Amino acid sequence: MEDRWNQASTRCLESALDECVYGSRLIGSDPDLVLHGGGNTSIKTPFTDVTGDSFDALFVKGSGWDLATIERRGFAPLNLSRLRDLLALDSLSDTDMMRELKASSFDPDAPAPSVESLLHAYIPHQAVQHSHADAIVSITNVVDGETCVREVFGDSVVVIPYVMPGFDLAKAVAVRWPDEAHDHTVGMVLLNHGLFTFGETTAEAYARHHQLISKAERWLDEHAPLPAPTSAALPKVDRLVLSDLRRRISESANRPMVLCRHSDPVSTRFVQRIDLESIATRGPLTPDHVIRTRRVPMVGRDVESYGRAYAEYFDKHEHRGRTGLTMLDAAPRIVVDVDLGVLTAGRTVGEADIAFDIYEHTMPALERAEDHLGGYVALEPEHIFDVEYWDLEQAKLHLAGPPPALAGNIAIVTGAASGIGRACAAELLARGCAVGGIDKDGSVETAFDNPAWLGLTVDVTDPTAQTAALDEVVERFGGLDIVIIAAGIFGVGAAISQLDPTDFRAVQAVNLDSVLSLLHATHPLLARSPTGGRVSIIGSKNVAAPGRGAVAYSASKAALVQVARIAALEWADDGIRVNTVHPDAVFDTGLWNDQLLAERAHLHGLTVDEYRIRNLLKTEITSADVARLAVELCTDTFAKTTGAQIPIDGGNDRVV
Ligand code: ZN
Repeated sequence: MEDRWNQASTRCLESALDECVYGSRLIGSDPDLVLHGGGNTSIKTPFTDVTGDSFDALFVKGSGWDLATIERRGFAPLNLSRLRDLLALDSLSDTDMMRELKASSFDPDAPAPSVESLLHAYIPHQAVQHSHADAIVSITNVVDGETCVREVFGDSVVVIPYVMPGFDLAKAVAVRWPDEAHDHTVGMVLLNHGLFTFGETTAEAYARHHQLISKAERWLDEHAPLPAPTSAALPKVDRLVLSDLRRRISESANRPMVLCRHSDPVSTRFVQRIDLESIATRGPLTPDHVIRTRRVPMVGRDVESYGRAYAEYFDKHEHRGRTGLTMLDAAPRIVVDVDLGVLTAGRTVGEADIAFDIYEHTMPALERAEDHLGGYVALEPEHIFDVEYWDLEQAKLHLAGPPPALAGNIAIVTGAASGIGRACAAELLARGCAVGGIDKDGSVETAFDNPAWLGLTVDVTDPTAQTAALDEVVERFGGLDIVIIAAGIFGVGAAISQLDPTDFRAVQAVNLDSVLSLLHATHPLLARSPTGGRVSIIGSKNVAAPGRGAVAYSASKAALVQVARIAALEWADDGIRVNTVHPDAVFDTGLWNDQLLAERAHLHGLTVDEYRIRNLLKTEITSADVARLAVELCTDTFAKTTGAQIPIDGGNDRVV
């Protein structure tokens, strides 16, 4: 573990709470210590109220805050003497504990306190830091975890057998602590859970975290080295195989899911182990991973069997719930397969990426334990179930609110670097869709800073490059549900009598031929969409109301409409909807420049300003307006519409 405490940056901190915030962020931003909201910290320091009275208080991490980014207001100031009174009780339900913790807060605006608050209150040191460090769970999740911990740390730590976080864990610590703690105690290891360290200051607690974890890491490197990195590569997988699997997982989840493939060296080595099925199906490193990863991954591709096993697991443990439980969906979140590698599923790319972050840290720990420490041992399924169906854990998932309308959907947008294409990509991302954006302009690759964005530099007129891009999108997201065709060029404006046939062909190549080849290549993917494939084509007002000097553009768009109509006819049996929007005069696109605008305005005998709003509603159409309509056509609002052409032109008397 890297010691990231910087004396210079803590010198100017004004209070113990500020130092706790600083130390919390160090713990929270180290993925070897905690992942995605795990871990918690506290500081015992007086709380001064509005009258100037001072009280002994525990400032403890609030739930919903991530240690990596926590601020002062992320800590709840709790009345310490009240917490000690609560600890004297014989029992306290989760619901009552959470209500009492909230009632102990000196600040009604503070966040709900961590479920581990009573444990923090019990520990007789000012500063407390708690993580789920890889190195700690690597030595606890073995045949005799306590012996292994003792071998590494001797008696410098208190060791607590697994108890679910909450009142019972705080009581278990209170029972064991007096017998095990002494002057040289610097930490506490919770088996199958993680590490607590403490001290008179956060600096001391952090230094002890660093000391213990570094010691465990050195011990592991010596006694349980990782296998050598593999040089083997996973085979290339047909995109239809991935998209079939993604469809079946989505059906099992009863909602569209993204499925991200990982073929990095660690994943590759792991899936090629001959004992894969055995070690992958024993359970997670710590129970709180279960809400992200499920208890076990799916080994292989039999989604139906996995779902049946999940239902059996639920039936077997359902009685443990204090109230009636509803089974979560039975779809896997992690898939391990000898050829496919590690795949992670989620309602959003963010969820799938979190599942992989956790599994990336899980695989080496499983291998070390299995190969060198007598075998990997996880908690019994009932303990995992308790956490999976614990209201307090499920609440963490619900904090984010319901997923947006197109969550789990996967789209491709052509011409995504600028104009209408870029606006469509932005609209899809805003609605929760994963988007592969293609454009010949390389700026497409960094057009959006979003894990759900994959920008690819592709010339759409190159069918080989198009299909390679499809492969990449399916590798990253698992399939395809939506295609938005926005790439287009205007070409050279010329009267037919003046037109160079080469210029005419060049426009057809981009606006028409490339669409035909892309639709041809995407059809089998769209036919496998769990929600029904959808295509939105950006046409043009010119189809219904062509203009002089624009034959190449107008002819290409008119032909494109016929392509769309015939696709709607041919693909209806596959549940694929194909619709066209006809924008007019969208000037914030790469198609237009000042010179072209001036020329077209002049041709119509108008000023540029008049030309911009020459429609019935006297309104200017923007790329964002067109994108909203093109994307809306891909939602359930238009679930029963295909083969339609919808103008978005402010009303045009030649079209109306
Ligand atoms: Zn914990």
